Amino acid sequence: MIHILPDELVDRIAAGEVVERPSAVVKELVENALDAGAGQVDVHLEAGGRKLVKVTDDGEGISRDDLEKVYIRHATSKLSRLEDLFHIASLGFRGEALASIGAVSRMQITSRCRHGAEGACAANEGGRLLPVRPAGCPPGTTVEVKNLFYNVPARLNFLKTESTELSHCVNCVMRCALAFPDVGFTLLHNQRKVIRAEQNTTIQDRIARFFGKEVADGLIPIETEELGIRLSGFLGRPELGRHDLRRSFIFLNQRYISDRAVHAAIRRAYREVMPEKFQPVYFLHVGMPPDWVDVNVHPTKIEVRFLDGARVFSAVYKSIRNALAGNETCAAGLPPHGLNPSTGIRPSWIPAMPGPDPFFGEQAVAEGRGASAGARFDDPAGAGPRLSEKTPASHPDTGGLPGFGLHEQEEPIPLPERILQVHETYAVFETPDGLAIIDQHALHERVLFESLRREFECGGVRLQNLLLPSMLDLDPSQAARMNELCFDLSRLGIRAEPFGRDTLKITAVPALLKTIDPVTLTADILDRMMRGETGEQAYLDLLHRVACRGAVKAGHRLTAEELSALLITAGRIDFSGRCPHGRPTKVIFSKKDLEELFKRRGF
Ligand code: ADP
Ligand code: MG
Repeated sequence: MIHILPDELVDRIAAGEVVERPSAVVKELVENALDAGAGQVDVHLEAGGRKLVKVTDDGEGISRDDLEKVYIRHATSKLSRLEDLFHIASLGFRGEALASIGAVSRMQITSRCRHGAEGACAANEGGRLLPVRPAGCPPGTTVEVKNLFYNVPARLNFLKTESTELSHCVNCVMRCALAFPDVGFTLLHNQRKVIRAEQNTTIQDRIARFFGKEVADGLIPIETEELGIRLSGFLGRPELGRHDLRRSFIFLNQRYISDRAVHAAIRRAYREVMPEKFQPVYFLHVGMPPDWVDVNVHPTKIEVRFLDGARVFSAVYKSIRNALAGNETCAAGLPPHGLNPSTGIRPSWIPAMPGPDPFFGEQAVAEGRGASAGARFDDPAGAGPRLSEKTPASHPDTGGLPGFGLHEQEEPIPLPERILQVHETYAVFETPDGLAIIDQHALHERVLFESLRREFECGGVRLQNLLLPSMLDLDPSQAARMNELCFDLSRLGIRAEPFGRDTLKITAVPALLKTIDPVTLTADILDRMMRGETGEQAYLDLLHRVACRGAVKAGHRLTAEELSALLITAGRIDFSGRCPHGRPTKVIFSKKDLEELFKRRGF
């Protein structure tokens, strides 16, 4: 038999969603205060919030008439029409917090409008509303929630220790304080002060207060707009990296959110400068038009859904990456090495970089030599993607292949002075101020990654046709998706076509990676695709792996010319001081360091 549940029971069930623990009450009440335009919000807790949560604000207040409605489910002043739902500018809008909290506690709201003559008070005893009565109070609102879950013993049992519940409440107030640096906040627990943040401060002040000087001193400001998405706030220097997310904050239109895609985009950008196992520190405000995001997908609105997730990923990744690249301590490039780059031949394994080519000079770029020759994706009459190569007109002698044929010509290169390969792993050279040691694999990996990334960003990868096609056997799940995989591979610069039902015929690979066995390369990439990775994130991961596979290994003998060519190219890219996994590519000893090491000074 089907029952229609009584309102009281409906309210209790609904309360379970919104009010999970005391910190949820704190969150809802503080957000209401902020929506009411408060300049000061004071929170008092007892027993981790279980006995008492009291929030006082100096916001616009609630009129006596409205107090009559305040506990009614779906009663809100923030939304009136369906269209409003797609332009939410307030933190609340569902009109259910007060009804839900009232259903599972003894609650009282005392309020006076900013210009009202007197205040009023509305109480709710576990879902039973008492008549609104006049009350003396200053302008603003005080909400008291006592004995949370007194009528839901099962919920009480789920609560953790007082200190755990308190720490959730503290986190909640801290997030609001970081989102609204103009608003003053205090948090008292059992009469003891836990948080105090004055009005009209800056985010930096708040970060210093909550996380200490070390964090506050290690911040890189960010203020950008990319693809219509504004980013502002602070990024922690790589050294601040941690093993948890407790110093990683994302605010969307002043709402604290937890969004995996945004976190992933930030981490991805940080991978340039710190090892993957660390979690970067950041306090990032993301701003976008309210109709680009649906905040109504989670009862506590902590998760959101973006209209165009790929755009958000891309904007966040690019902005953070640029901010890090523009920061000297993060991007720390290579020192000048005194090599004369005006003449020489780039070895085939070192990619050309856009811009004036140090190996050929300005002219070479104008002729299309050396620099990336641009995008190659044609889609003739919807026949699916097809990669085509353009051969730079200036050297047909390369056998119709794009890329580096030219550089393999035997031409003399002037021997650079003072560069030495050590243990077939490192290069040592003199700098104007001391000496530098380079890890050849790490640096080459970075150079390859940068060049691949730039090629992709420009929309195309130069291809190298294989003299003989390579065959790769697919497993049944791969075979079932063969056409789709071929398309995705083509975006990565691997041209493959079905050959029979479960074999791929690989006919071209990225020119930069022609030294890798095409079957190994492709199988590796297919594995990732089969694990469900798509889009830019998987893409960049692949590039990392591809760069790693393609980079010269330790144990590989390089000539002085090759080493100097590598250094010259590295001088022209972002993040040349770190490999794509965040390891340093170089160690530098200044003259002063050397003098100290040899105790030449102060003796
Ligand atoms: P919502 O915030 O989603 O609108 P709530 O149940 O949290 O729903 O609050 C219901 C209504 O009560 C709000 O829309 C607002 O008009 C009023 N209100 C609640 N708290 C305050 C406050 N601190 N100051 C002013 N008005 C408030
Ligand atoms: Mg609310």
